[in-house]
Amino acid sequence: MDLVNPATEEIITSVAMASVPETDLAVRRARRAFDGWRRVSPGDRARLLRRFAELVDDHAGELAGLEVAEAGHPVAQARWEAGNLRDVLHYYSAAPERLTGRQIPVPGGLDVTFHEPLGVVGLIVPWNFPMPILGWGLAPALAAGNTVIVKPAEATPLTALRVGELALEAGLPADVVTVLPGEGPVVGRRLAEHPDVAKIAFTGSTRVGRELMAACAAGVKRLTLELGGKSANIVFADADLEKAAATAPGAVFDNAGQDCCARSRILVQRPAYDRFMELLEPAVQAVAVGDPLDEGTQVGPLITGAHRARVAGYVPDGPLVAIRGRAPSGKGFWYPPTVLAGDGVTDLPAWREEVFGPVAVVVPFEDEADAVRIANDTPYGLSGSIWTRDVGRAFRMSRAVEAGNLSVNSHSSVRFWTPFGGFKQSGLGRELGPDALAAFTDTKNVFVSTEE
Ligand code: NAD
Repeated sequence: MDLVNPATEEIITSVAMASVPETDLAVRRARRAFDGWRRVSPGDRARLLRRFAELVDDHAGELAGLEVAEAGHPVAQARWEAGNLRDVLHYYSAAPERLTGRQIPVPGGLDVTFHEPLGVVGLIVPWNFPMPILGWGLAPALAAGNTVIVKPAEATPLTALRVGELALEAGLPADVVTVLPGEGPVVGRRLAEHPDVAKIAFTGSTRVGRELMAACAAGVKRLTLELGGKSANIVFADADLEKAAATAPGAVFDNAGQDCCARSRILVQRPAYDRFMELLEPAVQAVAVGDPLDEGTQVGPLITGAHRARVAGYVPDGPLVAIRGRAPSGKGFWYPPTVLAGDGVTDLPAWREEVFGPVAVVVPFEDEADAVRIANDTPYGLSGSIWTRDVGRAFRMSRAVEAGNLSVNSHSSVRFWTPFGGFKQSGLGRELGPDALAAFTDTKNVFVSTEE
């Protein structure tokens, strides 16, 4: 498959897509490698993961360059992404020596639990954050003693392929990490159906997540899903409006809106609505969309021409386009940051559906109950933000909004040492933080009799 640079439309290179027999061969080898990898002592596994993290750090510039070329990410963001992969590997390198079970009081003996690795994990990764999402699955899976087959997205396999080489260079045994570029319905589907794959960790669209859940059902295969979102940014009239408006564009337009956590529904309490829109306009105009290689660029192009056409289809002509930012013209899949608002805006598909592009919708609300009703009126539940100076309200809202990751007076929802995942149709299970290890292990209970 030809890989295209989204900022220049030039072909970078081409990559061979794996077939079903090649997938089966990779699974056989990963299954064999599992028997050895699970027996590597916790200290040695930790050391190998630390060395792997350090190699990623040594190659951060190179990895960032690949991400810029294949995904069009701004170079500063791409460096952050390589750093995130390094940090997640470091964080989980502490896990093998701390994966402790419990000792539970029972009569007549000793009862202990173990967190056993599952076996071969199939890790299916999307194109929007290829390096971080790879790390979020790879690091805890390896730390817990599993072997991993990574299926990167069709458009963005290059960083994953390089990371696979670095794993070997770090000293991880052969076939502990396998990177298998391929098409979703071929390689991804086969991993979900293969009897020797113990678990699928999937990040991507809710549609494919649903299909994989059905495919995994036949073998009662373990599955975690990180899916789509339509998150709310809720701004109360008592909030720091300047800060809320200054940060709202980044919360939805970063990564050109190709972010599962994008706060694409902005809810503003009615008395503050006009002022908020006044403040939002210059903030949207100031978003620097442009050449990913320029250090000052905040937002790059969309991933493909087809995706840009899909995004553009969500934006009507006419007065509902309240604010339109700037984007380059000419080669590249550019789309300007766009804000929709006004009477009838909630009838637009952009209000309900995940656009996965730089399009936000602003609506007014009356009070807390109204904000909760609007925020929860979606099948998704991934993230969201609440802006208020009233601490009681901040907690009432945080408990009432149905989403897995909320932030108050900020937009940060992903830290590698705290749990991340979705409510409702945004996902199943949790990644990152202390919780992720549970998703890559099964608990075994052992009773030892002490009777004479
Ligand atoms: P996608 O579902 O089309 O593809 C994701 C991955 O699944 C790719 O590797 C693809 O090749 C593979 N795939 C596609 N069809 C498959 C099939 N039938 N069987 C097995 N695998 C298959 O999603 P995308 O367009 O690459 O990514 C965008 C979506 O990902 C958005 O909906 C976004 O919200 C979601 N996302 C969620 C999170 C999260 O953490 N919740 C993070 C990033 C992206």
